Amino acid sequence: MAEPRNVVIIGGGLTGLSAAFYTRKLLREAGVDPVVTVVEKGSVWGGKIETLHKEGFVIEKGPDSFLARKTAMVDLAKELEIDHELVTTNPEAKKTYLLHKGTLHEMPPGLVLGIPTQIGPFLKSKLVSPAGKIRALMDYVLPARRTEEDESLGHFIERRLGHEVLDNVTEPLLAGIYAGDTRHLSLNSTFPQFGVVEREHGSLIRGMMSGRKPTETHTGTKKSMFLTFRQGLQSMVHALVTELSGNVDLRLNTGAESITKLPQGGYTVQLQDGSTLQADDIIVTTPTFATSKLLAPHVNTAALDEIKYVSVANVVLAFDKKDIRTNFDGSGFLVPRKEHRTITACTWTSTKWLHTSSDDKVLMRCYVGRAGEQEALKQDDAGLVELVRKDVLDLMGIDAQPLFTEVTRLNHSMPQYPVGHKQKIQDLRTQMAQALPGVYIAGAGYDGVGLPDCIRQAKEISTAIAAGIPVKSVV
Ligand SMILES: Cc1cc2nc3c(=O)[nH]c(=O)nc-3n(C[C@H](O)[C@H](O)[C@H](O)COP(=O)(O)OP(=O)(O)OC[C@H]3O[C@@H](n4cnc5c(N)ncnc54)[C@H](O)[C@@H]3O)c2cc1C
Repeated sequence: MAEPRNVVIIGGGLTGLSAAFYTRKLLREAGVDPVVTVVEKGSVWGGKIETLHKEGFVIEKGPDSFLARKTAMVDLAKELEIDHELVTTNPEAKKTYLLHKGTLHEMPPGLVLGIPTQIGPFLKSKLVSPAGKIRALMDYVLPARRTEEDESLGHFIERRLGHEVLDNVTEPLLAGIYAGDTRHLSLNSTFPQFGVVEREHGSLIRGMMSGRKPTETHTGTKKSMFLTFRQGLQSMVHALVTELSGNVDLRLNTGAESITKLPQGGYTVQLQDGSTLQADDIIVTTPTFATSKLLAPHVNTAALDEIKYVSVANVVLAFDKKDIRTNFDGSGFLVPRKEHRTITACTWTSTKWLHTSSDDKVLMRCYVGRAGEQEALKQDDAGLVELVRKDVLDLMGIDAQPLFTEVTRLNHSMPQYPVGHKQKIQDLRTQMAQALPGVYIAGAGYDGVGLPDCIRQAKEISTAIAAGIPVKSVV
C-alpha cells in the first residue's frame, strides 16, 4: 500500500456511514491506505434512522422504507450481505386513499407521482370537479415551456394541470416526501423528470403515459415500489457499523467544531471535546445548517443558509385487532392542506408491512407537521396524541384505546430545496474546489432526501476521492 490517506467524515447518519464504507473500500482498491474517522455529535449512529422493537412490533421512528427503483440502497445491502433481509410491501395493500371533503377516497388507478396516466379512472374520480378535470386535460394542448430554468414544483403542476389537481391530488402526494410546500420547492431538485417530460412530449400527461413501466424489486419477481428490512431500517445501520468497526475510527458523542486549512495542504478538524484530527479529505454530511457553520469561515455559504428545515413528528398507535372494526385494505391515506387536519398522512403500517406486527394486532403511524403547518408541534406529547386520536376517530371511526402510543419528534429534519437550489449548490461546490480542495459536502440537503439518494451521493464523493477527480465533476 502507498501513503496513508486521512479521511474525516463529519456526521454519522446514513450518508456519513456509507461514505466511510465506500471511501475505505474504493481507496483500498485504488492502492491507497485509508485512515478513515467518522465523528458523530449524537450518542447513536444512523442519524434520522431509528427502529424501535416494542411488544412484538417493529416501529420506525424516522424513515420507514425506501424506493426500490433507486438501487443504491439495495446495492449496499448486497455488499453488506443483508439483502436476504429485504422485505416488500404487502401486495394486497396496493390501494392508497386521499382525504377529500372529510371522506377517504381511493386514489384513481394510473396516478404516477400524482399525474393521471389513465384518463378513464381520472374522469370518474370524485377528487377533482368536472371543471378541474377539464383544466387538467388542457395539458394536452397547452404550449410547453422549453427552457430548463428552475421554477417551483407547485407552479409547474398548476401551470400544466391546474390548481385543483395540484391541491387535491399532487401536492399531498409529492410534497409529503419533503413535508414541504410545492409552491416553494424546486422542480429541478425534486422532480426534474417532469420538466424533461414537458420539454420532450409537450404534455405532462402524454409524457408520463409513455414513460409508465412496471416497477420491479431486487428480486425481479414481486412488484413493490418500496422496500425495507425485516427487522427495520436499523439493520442497515447495524450492518454498516459492524463492517466498519475495527477498520474505521468510529467516534460517537464527538461533534466537529471547525475546520482549519493548513498552509502546507490538508486540514485540521477541531472537535467539540477539544481534540483535533488531521485530514487530507473531509466529507461533511451534517444537515446544511450545521455544515454552514463549518464552512462559513472559508466560503460563501448563502446557498446553505437558504435551505430551510421543517420540523415534523409522528405518532404511532398500536391496537389489538379485536378492538378495531375498520377494514384496512390499503397502505394508508394522505391529507391535503385544505382539509385542515392535524395529521398530514397516515400509514396503515401493519397492513402495508406484514413484518411489523403479529396478525392479531394493528399498527398505524400518523404524521404531523409540514411547511407552514408547525402549530400542532407546540403541543406536548399527550396533547399531540389527543389531536391525532381525534383525527383517527373522525376519519377512520376508531375510538379504541391503543395498547400504547409512541411519539417521535424530528425537529428541523426535512430540508426544503428552494427554487434554483441545484445551481446554487453547484456554484458552492465550484467555490469549495478552489478554496477548500479535498472538502466535500453530501447528504439529504443537496441532491435528494431519500435514503438511496444519500448513499448514492456518498458513493459519488468516495469514487471522486479515490479517483482524484475534482468533486464538481460528479454533481
Ligand atoms: C420523519 C422522516 C421520515 C422520512 N422517511 C423517509 C422514508 O421513508 N424513506 C426515505 O428514503 N427517506 C426518508 N426520509 C429522509 C431520510 O431519512 C433522510 O434524508 C436521511 O436519513 C438523511 O441522512 P443523512 O445522513 O444525510 O443525514 P442525518 O441522518 O441527518 O445525519 C446527519 C448526522 O450529522 C450529525 N451531526 C450534526 N452536526 C454535527 C457536527 N457538528 N459534528 C458531528 N456530527 C454532527 C447529526 O447528529 C446526524 O446524526 C425521512 C426523513 C424524516 C425526517
